[in-house]
Amino acid sequence: MTHNFDRSVWFVTPGYEKHNLQLTTLNFFLFRCIFDLMGRFHYIDAINFAGKLTFRRVVNAIKLWSSYRLSRLLNRPIQWGYPISVSFEPTTSCNLRCPECPSGMRSFTRATGMLEKNFFQQTIDAMHKELLYLIFYFQGEPYLHPDFLDMVQYAASKKIYTATSTNAHYLTDEKAKATVESGLDRLIISIDGTAQDVYSQYRVGGNLEKVIEGTKRVVAWKKQLRSSKPFLVFQFLVVKPNEHQIDDVKKLAKDIGVDDVWLKTAQVYDYEQDPNGLIPENNRYSRYKKDHNGRYQPKHKLSNHCWKLWHSNVITWDGKVTPCCFDKDAQHTLGDLKTATMKEVWKSKDYRNFRHLMSKGRKNIDICANCSEGLKVWED
Ligand code: SF4
Repeated sequence: MTHNFDRSVWFVTPGYEKHNLQLTTLNFFLFRCIFDLMGRFHYIDAINFAGKLTFRRVVNAIKLWSSYRLSRLLNRPIQWGYPISVSFEPTTSCNLRCPECPSGMRSFTRATGMLEKNFFQQTIDAMHKELLYLIFYFQGEPYLHPDFLDMVQYAASKKIYTATSTNAHYLTDEKAKATVESGLDRLIISIDGTAQDVYSQYRVGGNLEKVIEGTKRVVAWKKQLRSSKPFLVFQFLVVKPNEHQIDDVKKLAKDIGVDDVWLKTAQVYDYEQDPNGLIPENNRYSRYKKDHNGRYQPKHKLSNHCWKLWHSNVITWDGKVTPCCFDKDAQHTLGDLKTATMKEVWKSKDYRNFRHLMSKGRKNIDICANCSEGLKVWED
């Protein structure tokens, strides 16, 4: 499903048919909260997601949303409630070498390593009553963590909606079966080309055949175990080298039995130079457009507010809390869960100052000046 911030939404039923739905104000509020968490929407996935709602989680979500709206109205940060969504980083390790990714380029200045299972469980124990959505990846390839699926299973046992994103190079038969059995709700598979030469231009060091075979194994195990989960998504990052393969990836997904295809526009750090030649020719799939001097500029003006900062955050493998997924190198650490609880960090002076600074102007913070919060990043 896509959302355009008006009161009209599209949703997708099996066979990729699209339907338009006009919403009332109340429904719009509820749908908007869910869209902001889920990114895109499919009715099977949505029903599963709705099953994770509890009274306490809904009340908490309403508190967050109300304090966010009030902050915008009064032009000063007010924060009620606790995070409903976190990204937890299983590892910083990755087998690929994608450009524009600090993990792929091995360019972190922060410490790198693997999440400790006990620390993960303690954090989930402390947060699960409010936490609705666990995005179980940040930097690195999650399947490189030997206990990754055990940890998914732990979060699933607390009835948290769990999602992960993988380059699908480790989906052996055993792992594909364990993935389905873990209770994972959503599996996003990065596939940025339908031919090896195109795929490996961005996914440097990747093997497309492994991705396709791994995906087929998950589909097969879902059928064998009669499971509708994980909801399977092909994520196709549209860049110049692959923009001609959009129809091909949709056909491939349908042939294999993948539930949905998400076309994502790419964030390019040095968009003025575009040194890796990633900005697509088709303006629809680009976050940037050329100005009268022929230089790329962001297409849309950024507003000085950020819903992400009011409802979610990121926990790195070693327990640092950062404001969002744009802080890939954890340069804006707002707390440490090894020495404080999430509730303390969330309401801390550092967090309050960060929210205040961002509301005074996105340009005040390096990561906020070129992020996609509030913009449409998914295309059909
Ligand atoms: S980088 Fe973007 S998403 Fe992150 S806090 Fe800043 S404005 Fe919000």
